[in-house]
Amino acid sequence: MKKFKTMEKLKIAIQKSGRLSEKSIELLQECGIKVSNGDRKLKTSASNFPMEILFLRDDDIPQYVEQGVADIGILGENEVWEKEKNVKVVEKLGFAHCRLSLAIPKDEEYTGLTYFNGKRVATSYPRILGKFFKEKGIDVRIEELGGSVEIATGIGLADGIFDIVSTGSTLIMNGLKEAEAIMRSEAVMISNQNLSPRKTELLEQLLFRVKAYKNGQGRKYVLLNAPNEAIPRIVKLLPGMRSPSILPLADKGWSSVHSVINDDDFWEVIDELKNLGAEGILVVPIEKMIL
Ligand code: ATP
Ligand code: MG
Repeated sequence: MKKFKTMEKLKIAIQKSGRLSEKSIELLQECGIKVSNGDRKLKTSASNFPMEILFLRDDDIPQYVEQGVADIGILGENEVWEKEKNVKVVEKLGFAHCRLSLAIPKDEEYTGLTYFNGKRVATSYPRILGKFFKEKGIDVRIEELGGSVEIATGIGLADGIFDIVSTGSTLIMNGLKEAEAIMRSEAVMISNQNLSPRKTELLEQLLFRVKAYKNGQGRKYVLLNAPNEAIPRIVKLLPGMRSPSILPLADKGWSSVHSVINDDDFWEVIDELKNLGAEGILVVPIEKMIL
């Protein structure tokens, strides 16, 4: 019995090919899990973690996870909402950010949501859209399409579309303009509601690693030298995790400061550090960060 238990593997479903595939494998690799799928099989095993990886279409992942064919999965929140399966979102993953938007032909005048009253809207997300318009009390005919939604107005199938937008260039290429952004989505990890104790433990291990990786993203490690009198002000600028490390230099009156900084604050803080007399500033990427 014990042997069987230790052999239990966490089955993760990821997108077979598409916008999420590479990032999903990269995330597993950043978590120290080696995945090789050179010949794009349906499934493969990790060599150094009790994990089996299933390669599927993203639309099917919620169903497989609900049924327990896969224990967990990585996919866009948009598909989780649309499929309405009984699964749990356990972590937002910070990639594949996009929005779900209503778009209309560019020469049309957009007059607000009531514009859509009595109109036909094409989408691959009929449930999300149906719910949205129902809540707003707007009567719309939804034309469900599997893909290439952006051409629906051009061929006369619909008056507007509801689809994923990131830069908006696809809309422009198809003579459309964004009328309304309805929700924002990113890649998430979902889980089956009834994992065995062993699988729950494996998922917790995985999530610990995912969080360490996510914490390192968007932050940098900063090392610099500064005259001692500037240290109190530098410490205020670079609060770091608990507080920065201050080490005396062999050169009297100088110290070295080590800390962590957010990417967003980076240039502004660097300028201030220079003004305070900091020298030899080194900025290095952080691979993992355990808080
Ligand atoms: P599949 O063949 O697996 O069904 P698909 O064609 O449905 O693939 P993709 O276009 O690969 O899906 O997109 C997968 C997910 O990536 C989307 O559900 C969405 O969450 C996200 N996504 C889609 N387009 C973009 C974009 N332009 N920018 C960022 N994220 C996006
Ligand atoms: Mg899909």
